[in-house]
Amino acid sequence: AVTTEKAKDQGSFDLGLKNLVHGQVCTRFPPEPSGYLHIGHAKAAMMNQYIAKTYGGKLIIRFDDTNPSKEKTEFEETITEDLKLLGIEADFVSHTSDYFGELQKFAHKMILDGHAYCDDTDQATMREQRMVGEASKCRDITIDESLRRFGEIVMGSEEGQKYCLRAKISVDDKNKALRDPVIYRVNLTPHHRTGSVYKAYPLYDFACPIVDSIEGVTHALRSNEYKDRNPLYYWIAEKAGLRQPQICDFSRLNFVYTLLSKRKLQWFVDEGFVTGWDDPRFPTVRGIRRRGLTIEALRQYILMQGASQNQTMLEWDKLWSLNKKIIDPTAPRYTAVDFKNFVLVNLIGDSVPSVPEYRTMPLNKKNPDVGTKQVLYSNQILLEQADVASFSQGEEVTLMDWGNAFVETISRSSNPETGDVVVSATLKLNLQGNVKTTKKKVTWLGKLDNVSKPNAKLMDFDYLITKKKLEDSDDITDHLTEVTEFDTDSFVDPNLMSVKKGTIVQLERKGFYIVDKTPSETPDGTINLIFIPDGKAAS
Ligand code: ATP
Ligand code: MG
Ligand code: MG
Repeated sequence: AVTTEKAKDQGSFDLGLKNLVHGQVCTRFPPEPSGYLHIGHAKAAMMNQYIAKTYGGKLIIRFDDTNPSKEKTEFEETITEDLKLLGIEADFVSHTSDYFGELQKFAHKMILDGHAYCDDTDQATMREQRMVGEASKCRDITIDESLRRFGEIVMGSEEGQKYCLRAKISVDDKNKALRDPVIYRVNLTPHHRTGSVYKAYPLYDFACPIVDSIEGVTHALRSNEYKDRNPLYYWIAEKAGLRQPQICDFSRLNFVYTLLSKRKLQWFVDEGFVTGWDDPRFPTVRGIRRRGLTIEALRQYILMQGASQNQTMLEWDKLWSLNKKIIDPTAPRYTAVDFKNFVLVNLIGDSVPSVPEYRTMPLNKKNPDVGTKQVLYSNQILLEQADVASFSQGEEVTLMDWGNAFVETISRSSNPETGDVVVSATLKLNLQGNVKTTKKKVTWLGKLDNVSKPNAKLMDFDYLITKKKLEDSDDITDHLTEVTEFDTDSFVDPNLMSVKKGTIVQLERKGFYIVDKTPSETPDGTINLIFIPDGKAAS
């Protein structure tokens, strides 16, 4: 166990791959351009790159574009951008559609060799027959008749639309994936690359082994939910008379309360439950990046998972706590005070500046490389209501990065609407006090020019669904979280207002946040920050 742990740490996992010859390995990542990349795809892409790199081999990125009804150029472009973000670099980019002509010839050859036939059985009957292991009425039509029918399929004629091409493997094999699967069918929707040149398209199970073989792929990695289809993959390559690449299964990534299916994610986009594919509630590469997950954390996490064949649901916590370790050393620190619950506190004492002044302070006390900020020190400061409410007259408290102070006066008011609140307070600064002896260390903000309006919005999000693991039989609409966005108006240190979009910061005592929108991007001129889960609180 010790050695496996160690191997995992170094990311040198063992997928049980055979015939790994240094310099002669070729892997491929085959995304279908039917949506944005999600964290599961990121795993597949990173594993392929890892194997290729480790063995001095090549990585192909192949757009698996065999279904024009689902695919779009837009998706291809965003996938390309996201792969770049993930640091995935292909030696070669291709499309399954580059091979449509050849694939058609292979289909033709399969029919000629008696390995495929054209069927006009309706879908429901076909499904039923495959379930019970019954032969189709077309299974034994002549090769000539199948060839004629395939001609109609290829033309997309009215007659051709009734047929599909099926591999002739088995009627009743224990493995249902081998019961004469469909390998070609008509689709008249124009294809985003080949337009209307082709009227019929190969299915993934047919196209993938052939194109893998043609492109020189040696190791075909895929998630293990396809395991039943592995014999089909080998069968197609063999009957096509091609070299068989080696399939390697890895476990599919699944997270609690998370949907990892482009079709379902598309539904959330279409229904307006999210703002787009890059919504911070989404498990897409863009969504998790927007929520503050670093690529480095993702990389480490995926290599840690490595070769595990475990199909369990993963918790998000581990990934987020890994992320926290990465962002903590370099995140600049700022102060924020809740807009709805602040108290304007007067400071008195000899050491209080009579005129507001700026002092140079480190952005991250543990790491001087992060730089400095100009912090406003004045005789009026903003404190959190909750902090001040806990003070008692005469108590000595610490104002962080300033010094100790005695509570001189504190005036509370109580009414049915607000409950018991502090309306004003005076603190007397006592810089000789020992900060180590105080119980309360509070954050504060020098009085801003305008305290009638917040300058920031802090956002936090909840899972989109209420069920840990949604089954195929579940209706999504029964399991939608009612409220998934939580906004808090806030005052933040003015230094933060000019920080670049995408910067990760720590708001003292609140946690890590990522700048989602700069003041110039919001209608009210506030800066918008998204809370980055830290793997501790169940958010
Ligand atoms: P989706 O259901 O989201 O559409 P898919 O598998 O149909 O996913 P593809 O674009 O065909 O999407 O997938 C490209 C590659 O990514 C495949 O090799 C597939 O095995 C892998 N992949 C997809 N989802 C996951 C996942 N959750 N975990 C690991 N690998 C995945
Ligand atoms: Mg797919
Ligand atoms: Mg899928």
